[in-house]
Amino acid sequence: MDNNRRRRRLSLSWIYFIVAAILIGVWLFNTGPQPYEQIYDRDFNDLVANKEIDYIEYVERDKKIDVYIKQDVLADKPEYEKFRETNSKGPHFYWKIADFSVVNENLNQLRSRLVEAELAKDTTLVPTEVEEEYSFTTKVDNSRSWGGELLWLVFPLLLIVMFIMSMRAMPGAGGGGVFNIGKSKAQLFDSKNPQGISFKDVAGMESAKYEVEEIVDFLKNPKKYTELGGKIPKGALLVGPPGTGKTLLAKAVAGEAQVPFFSLSGSDFVEMFVGVGASRVRDLFKTAKSKAPCIIFIDEIDAIGRARGRNSISGANDERESTLNQLLTEMDGFSTNTGVIILAATNRADVLDRALLRAGRFDRQIYIDLPNLNERKGIFEVHVRNLKLGKDVDLDFFAKQTPGFSGADIANVCNEAALIAARNAKKSIDKEDFLAAVDRIVGGLEKRSHIISPEEKKVIAFHEAGHASASWLLEHASPLVKVTIVPRGKSLGAAWYLPEERSITTFEQLYDEMTATLAGRAAEEVIFGKISTGALSDLEKVTKQAYSMVVYYGLNKNIGNISYYDSTGQQEYQFSKPFSEKTAENIDKEIHDLIEGAYERAKNILSENKDKLTQLANILLEKELIFAENLEEIFGKRDFGHAEEQPAVEEKETPAAEESPEASQSSDSQ
Ligand code: ADP
Ligand code: ZN
Repeated sequence: MDNNRRRRRLSLSWIYFIVAAILIGVWLFNTGPQPYEQIYDRDFNDLVANKEIDYIEYVERDKKIDVYIKQDVLADKPEYEKFRETNSKGPHFYWKIADFSVVNENLNQLRSRLVEAELAKDTTLVPTEVEEEYSFTTKVDNSRSWGGELLWLVFPLLLIVMFIMSMRAMPGAGGGGVFNIGKSKAQLFDSKNPQGISFKDVAGMESAKYEVEEIVDFLKNPKKYTELGGKIPKGALLVGPPGTGKTLLAKAVAGEAQVPFFSLSGSDFVEMFVGVGASRVRDLFKTAKSKAPCIIFIDEIDAIGRARGRNSISGANDERESTLNQLLTEMDGFSTNTGVIILAATNRADVLDRALLRAGRFDRQIYIDLPNLNERKGIFEVHVRNLKLGKDVDLDFFAKQTPGFSGADIANVCNEAALIAARNAKKSIDKEDFLAAVDRIVGGLEKRSHIISPEEKKVIAFHEAGHASASWLLEHASPLVKVTIVPRGKSLGAAWYLPEERSITTFEQLYDEMTATLAGRAAEEVIFGKISTGALSDLEKVTKQAYSMVVYYGLNKNIGNISYYDSTGQQEYQFSKPFSEKTAENIDKEIHDLIEGAYERAKNILSENKDKLTQLANILLEKELIFAENLEEIFGKRDFGHAEEQPAVEEKETPAAEESPEASQSSDSQ
């Protein structure tokens, strides 16, 4: 809901509130004119006898007679002074009666008696005139109750209306209002609302596609499986980093199978009201079953699926737990062959509650990694389909330039390139537009206005040259693609490396990487004899790496082949460490020694190559950007006796599992 609408709704409910307040006020303080006094039959008879009545009105619903006194009597008679100011118009008195026809009858009799008596006293009077003096009009109000009773009706109604309005104005309620709050917020895509995504829109992830193809097949011809007594998994979990196309894949499954697709996010279940999440789950499954065969896709399932009962003290998670329990119940509740298949996505399978992963639930997990070189090319191909490309566009080259990019990043690059070309009023999108887009997405917008003194620039240049030189000279460090000292976003300089494809990493590799990471600061010390704050992110990275080497991977001799890693992730909030105080001290010492050792090593390497380092830094100062070729010119070919020689720009597949995409780009911020 956009802001404007919300504001309008809010002010609307304010209006309702004010109206209600006024009505309540009227109702409380205005129970008719004041003073307004009750009289009884004798008083009424007196009024008639004294000819004081202007007219009377029988109010049927209240069974009373309102009496209106003549204005001249009101003005003359001292007892009526009380009426003059506040209630001159009347009614002035009311008389509760049982039966109006009886009263009317009695009134007529009373009148004729009074007329007779007066005529008897004074024979000169004209009978009709006397009659006239005693008579007055009698009105009858037989309208239904629309006075005080009306308010009894309107008031609760108003309260309900106000409640609904405020519900609607509340973010997250989705405009469904209070009556729909327990309904699921799933978006439905079916034949009426098709999205037309099929496997050809999903590039790469061949193994994931292969796995879900079975699901497609089941949805298309369930008989084939059920006749053999086979069971199709009720749910599959898509696990992978953000933007790798999990949602896209789920949509493609629905598109291929031509079945309805319910899409929602785990956080949609979570509402501030108790019980809402569970009732939404119930509603979702009810709707889905009525549309079977179909697919339910729950994005970010970790929002509800986190392991239960970890911080039971707070009790704040009760709602989430009951939502999760409901989800588990529903998944157990429908039989395998209902035709409802649940796909869920998360980037953190490790935090999910074990119960979710048990057989009969999400027992199938499909891993989706960041795309490798070929896959990236494929993703580029998908996303340039509708773009007008220049002749020099080479998707192979772009794929090489984008290590560590996710599918979403690449989609972004293509769109950004089109925007850049349009801004420059071009007829087609050229290579340079794509490169500019890549740069923009890698490091945020170029900020040449960011002011750096020449002194600072020199320090940054040597720092980055230090990284570049060390990683070039160390056998196992990732080779460099390019280094810049143009500030981007928050970072002052940045280096891009090509991480090698590897699923296990040796101590040597990690140690070389650590050395190269520390070489920035080492260069500062070797050249200027002092160090700066510019190495913060380097130090952070190295510290984490050293910690995991010692504590998780058992790569330290003194600590030994021990891992304190907890793959279940269930102990995240434990207060006590799984090792003794003494071990903790040892760990600290080993981490310290490891890092200091690597730092000394970096300093030695750079001291030995001081000339070359300076040469490189000077090129960097001049051009602000250096490539692998520059390094090759200075240091010579990178040859450690490997069989095949890899020119640096050749990308080598996906980063290893433990390496986050940032690992391939190190930026130095201050
Ligand atoms: P996730 O759900 O994993 O966070 P999405 O499925 O939302 O990622 O992906 C976001 C966008 O990125 C998609 O809409 C698509 O444009 C693009 N994308 C991601 N992976 C691929 C891929 N393998 N092929 C084509 N496009 C992709
Ligand atoms: Zn650095």
